[in-house]
Amino acid sequence: MALSHEVASELERILGAGGLVLTPEGRLVYECDMHTFYKGAPDAVALPARAEQVQAIVRVCRAAKVPIVPRGSGTGLIGGAMAPQGGVMVSMNRMASILEVDLPNRCATVQPGLINLWLTNAVRERGWFFAPDPSSQMVSSIGGNVSTNAGGPHCLKYGITTNHVLGLEVVTGHGELVQLGGKTVDRPGYDLTGVTVGSEGTFGLVTAITVRLTHLPEAVKTVLAAFRTVVEASETVSAIIASGMVPAALEMLDEAIISAINAGTGAGYPEGAGAVLLIELDGPSAEVEDQAGRAAAMCRERGALSVSVARDEAERALLWKGRKEAAGAVGRLTAAYLLQDAVVPRSKLPQIMREMVAIGERYRLRIANVFHAGDGNLHPMICYDDRRPDELARAKDANEELLRACIALGGSVTGEHGNGLDKSKNLPLQYAEADLNFMYRLRRVFDPDHLMNPGKLLPTHPACGEGFRPQRPVLPAGTWV
Ligand SMILES: Cc1cc2nc3c(=O)[nH]c(=O)nc-3n(C[C@H](O)[C@H](O)[C@H](O)COP(=O)(O)OP(=O)(O)OC[C@H]3O[C@@H](n4cnc5c(N)ncnc54)[C@H](O)[C@@H]3O)c2cc1C
Repeated sequence: MALSHEVASELERILGAGGLVLTPEGRLVYECDMHTFYKGAPDAVALPARAEQVQAIVRVCRAAKVPIVPRGSGTGLIGGAMAPQGGVMVSMNRMASILEVDLPNRCATVQPGLINLWLTNAVRERGWFFAPDPSSQMVSSIGGNVSTNAGGPHCLKYGITTNHVLGLEVVTGHGELVQLGGKTVDRPGYDLTGVTVGSEGTFGLVTAITVRLTHLPEAVKTVLAAFRTVVEASETVSAIIASGMVPAALEMLDEAIISAINAGTGAGYPEGAGAVLLIELDGPSAEVEDQAGRAAAMCRERGALSVSVARDEAERALLWKGRKEAAGAVGRLTAAYLLQDAVVPRSKLPQIMREMVAIGERYRLRIANVFHAGDGNLHPMICYDDRRPDELARAKDANEELLRACIALGGSVTGEHGNGLDKSKNLPLQYAEADLNFMYRLRRVFDPDHLMNPGKLLPTHPACGEGFRPQRPVLPAGTWV
């Protein structure tokens, strides 16, 4: 769809000089997120600086029935912040301030475009941090984290984004500016904050967020254990979790990733191992000391090739730098890859890792792994050469087979990245028709005209896979309310 002259002029008036991108080359920058399979440039990109501008944009677009696509930093991995039907993309990068730090109440209020790590940087010296730590935290926005309900390595102990959001200011698809939740917990009425976290811009645009701040732990220890195989490492993960210990983080990296990371960052992960576990314990010193010893012992009992502990903060930081830059390092292994984000119950890790090896062999593709093992949240990267069409087709089939295997083991089609365009088609694998219909109806309460990020999060058709269509989802007769 092309934007009418009237709508463009109205948006220019609202946003002022330099607030609206209309040039083809300018719009092209916004045609995809980090899942580059899915492309769709918006007809215009709005760069608001204030919530009132966001509200005015929604009202103009709603009157003209123009789709609206919110965007944070565009690091999503699901085809979320892109515009398959055109329309107006609302980029939150200019709304990136910390509005308030309220340490007595252990919270802060920020604008959505604020980069995740910048909040921790602002409060660390006073002894606090913002716990949700997606590996993209150096670049992803807190608004994007809230909208995808992002996880991260340390979410094993601290909980995912939703556990740290106290309140939201949202411009709904109606064009209303509403306050959900607030600084106090357990407010009367429905938990609209909870339902909005993870809604991927389908309810409206988040314009301010009140988040919990967490006290920095007294002590931290990072254990690195190398194993012969990913299956042995997975069995150790299950054993650690079953013992009742909750490490701050419990990450697994396989052989392919280890060599790519070492070459890219010099992180010094043990070469030659089939897999390593990065186990971080934090909390009171005595407890951390005890748990680090127990975790190391469990690794040795299960045949670890080596077990070491980071000697100082510099060594620990280097290990984490390697882990957090793993996705970029994969460029050393392959021209292209498909990244899966799925979950299995933690006790099923050894089983799914065996299945993954078998799928890789069956489809003759290398599958590299770096993931939040403690959560059972897998991130296999299926490597392929995009110059060979048959490899891409095989990679897609392997990807879907892997997803079905996770569901068969009682898992979930997505762990932390969300649905976007990519996973919306897979939801019927996990939800019954009645569950999906309930979600469609909830969405319409916030966005009656289906203009907010259309085509994302929910399948266009519950029977799945009909591509993106501008009209409302078609449901079996009698089920649409
Ligand atoms: C190298 C790398 C590592 C990653 N590691 C992790 C990880 O460990 N854990 C994890 O969960 N994810 C991870 N991701 C994925 C991604 O960074 C997260 O999904 C992140 O939360 C997206 O934030 P963003 O600001 O880039 O949002 P975008 O990609 O811009 O948007 C994401 C979604 O949120 C919506 N949205 C954005 N802002 C708003 C707003 N203000 N109001 C309403 N809707 C909005 C968009 O429409 C879109 O649907 C990783 C990505 C990369 C590239």
